[in-house]
This record gives sequence, structure tokens and C-alpha cells, in this order.
Amino acid sequence: MGLLDGKVALVTGASSGIGRESALAFARAGAKVVVADVDVAGGEETVGMIKKAGGEAVFVKTDVTKKDEVKVLVDKAVETYGRLDCAHNNAGIEGIGGPCTECTEENWDLTIAINLTGVFNCCKAELPQMLKQGGGAIVNTASVAGLVGFPGLPAYVASKFGVNGLTKSIALDYATENIRCNSVCPGVIHTPMIDRLTGSDPEALKAMEAMEPVGRLGKPSEIADAVVWLCTDEASFVTGVNLPVDGALTAQ
Ligand code: NAP
Repeated sequence: MGLLDGKVALVTGASSGIGRESALAFARAGAKVVVADVDVAGGEETVGMIKKAGGEAVFVKTDVTKKDEVKVLVDKAVETYGRLDCAHNNAGIEGIGGPCTECTEENWDLTIAINLTGVFNCCKAELPQMLKQGGGAIVNTASVAGLVGFPGLPAYVASKFGVNGLTKSIALDYATENIRCNSVCPGVIHTPMIDRLTGSDPEALKAMEAMEPVGRLGKPSEIADAVVWLCTDEASFVTGVNLPVDGALTAQ
């Protein structure tokens, strides 16, 4: 018996990293999974992994910056599996590093469009379905960079503080509608995003590890487990929370 038997979960950014692990974890918990991403090959691979493990999943190519595509995604989830119970709005990019004076308008616009407006587009499309069926749980991926500032990432940090604010606002607006909305704030998690940021340079990876009080990077599955828990009835009184899953990085 899985904690999410009979439920339907949607995950964006599910072709890679944290989103892929979350899609796999939702399936292990018993949910049928709608896998969404711009990366078609990776998305199909995630679906294949879920099916191989005995689960059910479908891929829908979706750019979260395009509200029409996000609407099609939610429609497809409902058409395919009849409902939408859990949504993990996770797609995001790191953007280009550098202080504010070096942050181009293009970098600012793209980072905000994917990381913040993308999450808004998803919530806006998911909420009507959850209202219609009498409830649901949304988890947005923010970051420790949505709880404290980090140098050299002004657009990323601004986008993630935005996600955390949006999450609290949605939690309050739908608190009496049986819809919960939380965010996870990952610390440094070993995914392709971190490999891009470090150029897979062992020294740069060591510096990332040194940021973590626990002395190691987090695993994508450690975020996925928190996301799935937030969507289960075990978290029925948890809403409006920006949950650090960060090896004590923001405890300092
Ligand atoms: P990742 O491995 O790069 O995965 C992100 C996925 O999102 C990729 O498949 C990417 O596709 C996809 N994507 C990018 N733009 C998209 C769009 N417009 N629409 C739909 N999908 C899109 O990164 P990750 O580390 O798993 O990151 C997942 C989330 O966690 C992000 O929101 C990130 O900010 C957050 N996070 C990560 C860390 C960390 O240490 N890894 C820490 C804190 C927060 P392409 O590869 O084709 O671009």
C-alpha cells in the first residue's frame, strides 16, 4: 500500500535531477505520474524508468513559461488519469552568474520567466482542477537561495524569494478549500545543475561540499522524499511552509 495510491501527480522539470527523482518517488508511493519538461528525450527516459519499476506515467512536453502549454499539461493530466492531486512545480534554471551590474536584462528576464512566472503559470492552471475536485497539494521548488541571499546570483535569488512568497500567498488563499501549498528549499544537491555550475571541476565541487555543514552534497532523492511527504495526508496540517532540506546550510 502506497501513501498516494489512486492519486495523480504532476512534476515539471522531470527529465533530470530533482524532478526526475520526485517523479520516481511519486510513482513508488502509488501515484500515476505526469512527467513534464522541455527535454523530450529525458522525459521519455523518466517515463521508461517509472514503467520499468511497475508504475504508470505519461510525458507531456511543456515549457512552463508558456501558459497555453501549461494549460494543455493540466488538461492532459485530467484527460489521461481523471484528476490532479499533487503538483510539484520544479522546473528551473540557475541563470548566468555575476553581481547585479553584470546581470543582463536577458538573463534577468529568462531566470524570472522560468523560475518564478513558470511556477505561477503552473499554480494558476492546477488550482481550478484542485478546486473542482475538492482538494490537492502543491509543492513548489524554491531554494535556500529563496531564504537567504547568495552572492553572484541576483536573478536566481530574486526568483526563489518570489516562489517562497507566492507559495505562502496561495496557501492562505486556498486554506479553507482543502488545498495545501508548500515549497521545498534544497541546499546544494548533486544534479546536472551543480555539474554545470562547477564545470564538474573536483575543486569547485569540494567548495560546494564545504558550504554544507553536513560535509556532503544532498542527493536528489532526499528532496524527492520531502516533496512526496508534503503531498501525503501525513502532512495534512502543513501548509504555507518554505521547508529547508539543506543539511543545516541555513541554520548557520
Ligand atoms: P536540472 O537537473 O537542470 O533539472 C531541471 C530540469 O528543468 C531540466 O530537465 C530542464 O531542461 C528543465 N527545464 C528548464 N527550463 C524549463 C522550462 N522552461 N520548462 C520546463 N522545463 C524546463 O536541475 P535540478 O538541480 O534538478 O533543479 C531542479 C529545481 O531545483 C530547480 O528549480 C532549481 O532551481 C532547484 N534547486 C536546485 C538546487 C541544486 O543544488 N541542484 C538547489 C536549490 C534549488 P533542460 O536541461 O533541457 O534545460
